[in-house]
Amino acid sequence: MAATDAILVADKIVVRFETAEGPITAVDDVSFNVRPGEFFSLIGPSGCGKSTLFNVIGGLLSHHDGVVSVAGETINGPHQSIGMVFQEESTFPWRTVTDNVAFPLELTGMARGKRIERARHFIKLVGLEGFENRYPGELSGGMRQRVSLARTLASEPKILLMDEPFAALDEQTRLLLGDKVLQIQQQLKQTTLLITHNITEAVQMSDRILVMTYRPGKVKRIVDIDLPRPRSSEIVTSEAFGRYVAQIWNDLREEASRGMRDEESHALHHHGPSA
Ligand code: ADP
Ligand code: MG
Repeated sequence: MAATDAILVADKIVVRFETAEGPITAVDDVSFNVRPGEFFSLIGPSGCGKSTLFNVIGGLLSHHDGVVSVAGETINGPHQSIGMVFQEESTFPWRTVTDNVAFPLELTGMARGKRIERARHFIKLVGLEGFENRYPGELSGGMRQRVSLARTLASEPKILLMDEPFAALDEQTRLLLGDKVLQIQQQLKQTTLLITHNITEAVQMSDRILVMTYRPGKVKRIVDIDLPRPRSSEIVTSEAFGRYVAQIWNDLREEASRGMRDEESHALHHHGPSA
């Protein structure tokens, strides 16, 4: 794909960190393009540099090499064209669902009536109609993540960028929430970049999946997921789905094993072998 067809371009991203044990390269020469309306996922084992890339693309980290651009414009710092959803709980417990979703609109100075109307629209979109006046503490974890999603979507970002948004949820909730995200993505034609370590989730939702290596995080492969749309979680039982999962697991197994050995030798080095 020519870079000019892309809405998001990551070009030769390199991130190094200074650590107590010396410098490490967390992300090494990662380049990819995302097309308008595409659902693109980045998958890799824990510690391979996914969140580091998330922070670079979201403009939260600036000491990297390489360039991120959205619709031809280079990103320097947080940018309204990119809406981020984090793994951690990020709702405000003291605000109702409506006031959570309307919060970023409040910051832009939008009039109260208009932002409440906009918030209600996105609350409905994520399937939380009827919960407008509830507080996050009254909702399940999956519902709270939908509040976060509605809040991010309400700013109408060009790119929806999510870092393991469902990692804290059980597998059934995760699959059903995946359906919801797919429906919304189709409806809004929302360009989406999902960061995950979950193979099922990545195959269920993506048009393409970028598989990362472990340490340093490089591009191992980009896989086209040629499954019909619209999709739902029913697709996980199909043979074609199983083949994609197997193919990606083949790639990831090696990387995950390296990550595990790395952690083990680290533990040994620091704590010594146990008796
Ligand atoms: P992932 O999200 O894939 O689990 P991260 O991007 O969080 O991985 O981390 C990649 C590597 O970079 C890890 O080895 C991690 O310890 C290291 N790292 C991440 N952030 C920092 C930081 N601020 N300082 C030092 N090392 C970091
Ligand atoms: Mg992470």
